[in-house]
Amino acid sequence: MLIGLPEALAFAERRQVALAAVNVPFFEALLAVIKVAEATRTPVILQHAEVHEHLMSIEDIGPVMRVLAERSSAPFVLHVDHASSAEYVARGFEVGFNSAMIDGSSLPFEENVALTSQVVALARERGFGIEGELGVMTGNENGNPSQGVADASLYTDPKQAREFVARTGVTALAASFGTVHGLYRRKPELNYELISQLRAATGVPLVMHGGSGLSAPEYRACIHHGVRKVNYYTYAAKAALDAARDELANPDTVLFPDMALAAQQAVTIDVASLVEVLRAPADPVAV
Ligand SMILES: [Zn+2]
Repeated sequence: MLIGLPEALAFAERRQVALAAVNVPFFEALLAVIKVAEATRTPVILQHAEVHEHLMSIEDIGPVMRVLAERSSAPFVLHVDHASSAEYVARGFEVGFNSAMIDGSSLPFEENVALTSQVVALARERGFGIEGELGVMTGNENGNPSQGVADASLYTDPKQAREFVARTGVTALAASFGTVHGLYRRKPELNYELISQLRAATGVPLVMHGGSGLSAPEYRACIHHGVRKVNYYTYAAKAALDAARDELANPDTVLFPDMALAAQQAVTIDVASLVEVLRAPADPVAV
């Protein structure tokens, strides 16, 4: 079934948990994530990122995501991830998405406010929520150009975040507090105090991007400090590749679908373990 982003985040807030928000630009990942949501009876945010258009167009995967989400017993939000324009968000809404993230984080502050406000207005007509982003996270969802290191000078400023949320009316805020997109080349240094300050300053749930590759205690501590949505892709996509490689090495494998199935099973296992960590109650003694 479909639920809205505000409803999903309210659920996470009540339970003091975070929801997995997984990009599914290949069909095996979509099937895997739906399976996990049904098995764990946990709401999941299914995402499609603009940066994955070269893998799968939103017009192709959107209607499929919508049909599968609607007929499932588990609750899903269908979320456009990292849209760079109001036009891309509108394309998503056109094909069945009911939520979006507009990423104006690389723009000057006033331009980010203007773009985000425009998208919030577009969503409001339909009763949808919008995630905005303030602060810069390096890398992107294709797993690469990030150096795997966050730059503390680009962390989100709580005062600016308060103004951003008040002026735009976003439902949730993606902020920079130590995570990066893609594969980590060294251990992330998360600023938990900053998460608390951002949560207190803005009054909205926080979104962690670059959520792949953290340890369970790191996730739990982030949740304890106010993270309610964890964007996830890179490690699931890597698990799929590793499984496909193993399958290819098997001389008995002669048909492509066997490889696709192995990839699907690997994503199921990987995302299930993430969901288990995120849905455990936040541990007040973690950090
Ligand atoms: Zn992101």
